[in-house]
Amino acid sequence: MSSLFDFDAPPDRYAVMGNPVSHSLSPRIHTEFARRARQRLEYTAIQVDEGGFAQAVGNFQGAGGKGLNITVPFKQPAFALAERLSERAERARAVNTLRFDAGTIYGDNTDGAGLVRDLCVNLGLNITGRRVLLLGAGGAARGAIAPLLDLHPATLVVANRHVDRARELRSDFARADALRAGGFDDLEGEAFDLLINATSASLHGEALKLPASLLASGAWCYDMMYAAEPTPFLKWAAVYGAAGTSDGLGMLVEQAAESFAWWRGVRPDTSGMVRSLREYLRDRGA
Ligand code: NDP
Repeated sequence: MSSLFDFDAPPDRYAVMGNPVSHSLSPRIHTEFARRARQRLEYTAIQVDEGGFAQAVGNFQGAGGKGLNITVPFKQPAFALAERLSERAERARAVNTLRFDAGTIYGDNTDGAGLVRDLCVNLGLNITGRRVLLLGAGGAARGAIAPLLDLHPATLVVANRHVDRARELRSDFARADALRAGGFDDLEGEAFDLLINATSASLHGEALKLPASLLASGAWCYDMMYAAEPTPFLKWAAVYGAAGTSDGLGMLVEQAAESFAWWRGVRPDTSGMVRSLREYLRDRGA
């Protein structure tokens, strides 16, 4: 690991891999973390074709790269590729952070920790005893389940477009009594205090087909996707009277801080970053 003062050493190399990845704010975030933590590193975004993930990781590792963030749709392939897993990655069966050390690929999952920190610390929400709906059963949803269950919600319902995937996820958490799984149609007649969109529908500008009755009085809606404008899910939430809404910009910053700490052994200062990224998104218009 090189510090700011190792002027002869090349900067340590990190990147985010995904498809699509051009929208990613991770290079901007990690560059700012490095500046604040006085660490010398280079962080880029790498677009990877579906089917080319393992090869792309091998190339990056072979060229001396130190670590990767993994985004849509490669979190489960990253889980399969990692040779050693953190406990939270093992529980999630999905990996969003890789580290290369002495030829070994280590995998971690920082999504859940980042989500919970944003919900409970930044937004001040209380999850204990509440009814929580998690929409989606991909890598991000997988990472969120154990940290949400640790907060003892009354129920945690996972609903996914392809219901088999939600049921498979449920079976991976066999001993969690509060956890239920099903399809969107199964939600008819139910109401929740917190609705979290962990699908990538908003990424494609698509609205989910959800029953109007889902919002309990005082319900909050959270979209893991972030954008300059409210996402289709957050627009839906506003139409049906959500008491509060948030996109996933705070989660993005917090999960990135967890990854940075895992790589570099230093937790970066995240203060003010959501505000400055929000301004950047507005200026960029996306
Ligand atoms: P995955 O590709 O692993 O999973 C995608 C999920 O979205 C699946 O459950 C899939 O359902 C569902 N989905 C996709 N399109 C639709 C649609 N049109 N209607 C209904 N469901 C749909 O992605 P990730 O889990 O990695 O990421 C999910 C989202 O979370 C993305 O928008 C990503 O940007 C965001 N995210 C944000 C983070 C942050 O820090 N703010 C961190 C991680 C993720 P099915 O199984 O039926 O195909």
